[in-house]
Amino acid sequence: MGNALINLAYLASATLFILGIKGLTHPRTAVRGNQLGAIGMLIAVVTALVDQQVVNYVWIIAGLVIGSGIGALMATRVQMTDMPQMVALLNGFGGAASTFVAGAALLDALQIDLALITPQFIVATAASGLVGTVTFWGSLVAFGKLQGIVKDVRLPGAQIFNAILLVVALALSVWLIVDPTAVWIYWAIVVVSSILGLSLVFPIGGADMPVVISLLNSYSGIAAAAAGFVLTNNALIITGSLVGASGIILTSIMCRAMNRSLTNVLFGIWVPSDAADSSDDVYGGRVKAANAEELAMLMETARRVVIVPGYGMAVSQAQHAVRDLVNLLEERGAEVEFAIHPVAGRMPGHMNVLLAEADIPYDKMKEMDEINPSFEQTDVVIVIGANDVVNPVARTNPSSPIAGMPILNVDKARSIIVIKRSLSPGFAGIPNPLFAADNTLMLFADAKKGALDIMNALKAV
Ligand code: NAP
Repeated sequence: MGNALINLAYLASATLFILGIKGLTHPRTAVRGNQLGAIGMLIAVVTALVDQQVVNYVWIIAGLVIGSGIGALMATRVQMTDMPQMVALLNGFGGAASTFVAGAALLDALQIDLALITPQFIVATAASGLVGTVTFWGSLVAFGKLQGIVKDVRLPGAQIFNAILLVVALALSVWLIVDPTAVWIYWAIVVVSSILGLSLVFPIGGADMPVVISLLNSYSGIAAAAAGFVLTNNALIITGSLVGASGIILTSIMCRAMNRSLTNVLFGIWVPSDAADSSDDVYGGRVKAANAEELAMLMETARRVVIVPGYGMAVSQAQHAVRDLVNLLEERGAEVEFAIHPVAGRMPGHMNVLLAEADIPYDKMKEMDEINPSFEQTDVVIVIGANDVVNPVARTNPSSPIAGMPILNVDKARSIIVIKRSLSPGFAGIPNPLFAADNTLMLFADAKKGALDIMNALKAV
């Protein structure tokens, strides 16, 4: 295939990636977006193989078979609640691949022709080694933390240690650029970056882990783009840049939605907030528990109902029961909508995915800004397994860990039903005065069981 044709094919695949990402911006077009991205990837892979004039396909086919097998197994086995860990692993593998590709290209160039080592080549090689390795080890720690097998490790002076490691890695990179024939420097960059990747992520609390994963996703894109410069492969440069840019945009959206500072997450800086009010102060004698029959009576006359799903709905896999409850309410003439907070659950879009799995129409899922003004006209809000995203403290206490985080203003509704198992806090670890509000009734139950119980009680009234 001629050079022009190869570049045309890469351009087509890059265009498909961009259209794919555009499709992923809306649930309705997401599946098509995914398919376009997959076709783009197929074109890129086939073009790369043709371009490289591979003589022996044995290793490539073996890699394809083993990789596809492991990938298919992981994708079908993984639980929705474990998706962040899976993404962490995939980012890590992407980073490691960039490190190996750059290292192999350097060894190759040294053997074949030193003239191949241009300034672009060697700068990109050093960048791939550094960023790719940090991504790999950082992602492994992130995976371990989410899986509960790695604990937070906060050592005094960790930030200074990290800064020193970064300076050493950068100094080694400059050395490699000056003397590209000394391959050991490349491996030294890999070793120092490995320690940096580990020590950067070890101190970061589980609370910030999804943000870290999104950041590592961005790093894996940067490493891939650098590997694209090593191989002078336009498709890899474009794809890597897309991943790098979209990862950093997602990171900043998540930071804003959780009111976290990107710098603090990046450097593992933990900001102590004022001690939150104790549970006794907030709840003491004011929480009203109700049973499903009492709640069904309250719902019987409701004209407008808003459901707020949260992490607990995912844990309990209550989405199908919730759908059945919605169908029943609608049959009885109520208008029902879902209020989706941008960081409800444990990953962006977590709630949308679960609700879509239960065939709940997308037009019922309203984003925070759209639904917030309507709570005052809402008869009943059902908060199911959500906590922080409806905690009014975010608006009222500037020293709370969630201060400034935009929340769903469910406290403005006429009545609020909260389904959760206990008064345990959510992700942020603080009590929620909503549970003690005059217009709130608590149904202490597993989310799925609670939804089914209300539905059965409603059928009986
Ligand atoms: P949350 O504040 O973490 O609260 C979840 C609640 O679900 C808990 O209070 C728990 O109470 C309840 N729960 C757990 N299992 C349950 C079950 N089987 N049945 C019923 N309830 C159950 O959840 P959220 O309101 O969705 O807020 C998300 C939090 O995660 C926010 O703080 C957000 O900043 C953070 N976060 C989100 C993302 C993201 O991308 N979405 C990323 C990072 C962090 P009980 O134990 O009493 O049942």
